[in-house]
Amino acid sequence: MAGRFAPSPTGDLHLGNLRTALAAFLLAVSRGVPFLLRVEDLDRVASAPAHEASQQRDLRAIGIDWDGPVLRQSERFPVYESALARLTAAGATYECYCTRREIRDAVAAPHGTELVYPGTCRDLSPDERHRRRAERPPAIRFRGEGTVTFDDAVAGRFTGAVSDVVLRRNDGAPAYNLAVVVDDAATGVDHVVRGDDLLSSTPAQIAVQEALGLPRPEYVHIPLVVGPDGQRLAKRDGALTLDDLDSAGIAAARVRGALTRSLGIDCPDELGRVAVRDLAKGFDPTALGALGPVTPASLALH
Ligand code: GLU
Repeated sequence: MAGRFAPSPTGDLHLGNLRTALAAFLLAVSRGVPFLLRVEDLDRVASAPAHEASQQRDLRAIGIDWDGPVLRQSERFPVYESALARLTAAGATYECYCTRREIRDAVAAPHGTELVYPGTCRDLSPDERHRRRAERPPAIRFRGEGTVTFDDAVAGRFTGAVSDVVLRRNDGAPAYNLAVVVDDAATGVDHVVRGDDLLSSTPAQIAVQEALGLPRPEYVHIPLVVGPDGQRLAKRDGALTLDDLDSAGIAAARVRGALTRSLGIDCPDELGRVAVRDLAKGFDPTALGALGPVTPASLALH
């Protein structure tokens, strides 16, 4: 059994990511299980070692440490390929030749920022597939069916459609929705703590897990820190990374205190000799939903 934090090394962590990381860390510590760090660097263009290093520096700066070596998804392509082969052998995948533009044009209403694939390539005839394969390399999608219901520790009971998520991109790289499922199971993760922007991806991930015969972890989706307008944090919302805050004269210890309090834990700014991990036993993620939206202003850092 273990908990984990799994950032994509595509930039500095902001207050919302740091708060989620703290929640994941505190929950693992409170349960007395290892806390793992996984680098989700499947996207070789957007990911950079410099971001990986600054993310780890910032996690340490707010009192988070992790057990064992860091797992890097870019080093595990063969593991994802073998899971994909099992899904394909079970008839749970299909080739998709659509471009992003074709998908956009075929979808009436985009679902948040993600386009829900309308299933264009799901049932092509063998001839059609042969013809389209000559035009461009296919992505591989999951053949999703129906809906999945699960109980989230913060969001409560959630039901969502199982979408036909991409499992391997058409450039050959494994996709997030496959890798996350394979890695959580391979590393014994039994509770997944992450931002609630991923709540709607969870039904498909659970369906992929089931198709692979893997156990279902407990889900704990942490509400994102939002801007004053209730929208996703943006640069205009001010100093959001530890670097920005440090330049504004706000030390990491203050940020650590404010974020910990925003998780419903009573703690002073200056912890002195007390480590963040010593506060873990007061942590109850099921109470987070009732705390209301957290904004940079509500953290009262300035
Ligand atoms: N890598 C994802 C992100 O940074 C998180 C994935 C997860 O925790 O399942 O948003």
